[in-house]
This record gives sequence, C-alpha cells and structure tokens, in this order.
Amino acid sequence: MNNQDCIFCKIVAGDIPCFKIYETENILSFLDIGPVNKGHALVIPKGHYKNLWDIPADLGKELMTAAQVAGDAIVKATGADGLNLLMNNNDAAGQLVFHAHFHLIPRFKDDGLKLWDQG
Ligand code: 5GP
Ligand code: ZN
Repeated sequence: MNNQDCIFCKIVAGDIPCFKIYETENILSFLDIGPVNKGHALVIPKGHYKNLWDIPADLGKELMTAAQVAGDAIVKATGADGLNLLMNNNDAAGQLVFHAHFHLIPRFKDDGLKLWDQG
C-alpha cells in the first residue's frame, strides 16, 4: 500500500533521501529533517496507514519493537540520558504528515526542551 502524495511513502520508495537508522521488512526508522533535539528520529510502517487506529495490530507490535531497537541505538549514539516516544494523531493533536509515525526524541539532562507546552 502506497500513497502517491505522501512524503513518507516517497521516502520508503527511495524517491526522497533520508538518513536511515534501522530497517526491517515492514518498518523504517530515519532522522527527522527538523529535529527538536539532537538525534530526533521517526519510526514508520512502510505501508501507508494514516494514524494509530489505522495500523493493524500485528504491525503495531512490530512498530513498537522497532521503536525499542531504534530508540536504544539513538540513545547509545547520542549519549542521551532519556528518550520521549511520541505520536501525533490527527491535526488537532499536531499531526502534519498523515502517514503514521512515532517520534523518538532523545533527552539530555537539563536540556530545557518543552514538548507539552502547546500554548
Ligand atoms: P507530525 O507533526 O506529523 O507528527 O510530524 C511530522 C514530522 O515529519 C516533523 O517532525 C517533520 O520535521 C518530519 N518531516 C517532514 N518531512 C520530512 C522529510 O521529508 N524528511 C524527514 N526526514 N522528515 C520529515
Ligand atoms: Zn504514506
């Protein structure tokens, strides 16, 4: 399943470059183009599912496993002290790309990043 107008489907297809962190048959993890902190990455299913509720249960488990593996790699590579796992679902929640994705956001002691202040 692939959506011609979707930027993440284009990344999966290799039509838009990305910095890959981790990949399986069904999942891709890559650095976010607009990082909110050092090492900010995304984990996406290769198939086009628009949000959390669109993802089949088995694929959801694979996605979580990939988040664990990619998150561990990013924490080790950046020397982070922690990690936020975040998902925006629908525009009211701040979703901009309607291809389901987890954000992996490394956190550093006293980095001052405010993720929950949405005004
Ligand atoms: P959302 O607000 O939908 O949860 O977040 C979408 C994320 O996708 C944003 O953090 C944005 O920086 C990232 N993004 C958008 N376009 C691209 C792209 O072409 N390449 C990469 N690597 N990230 C992208
Ligand atoms: Zn897509």
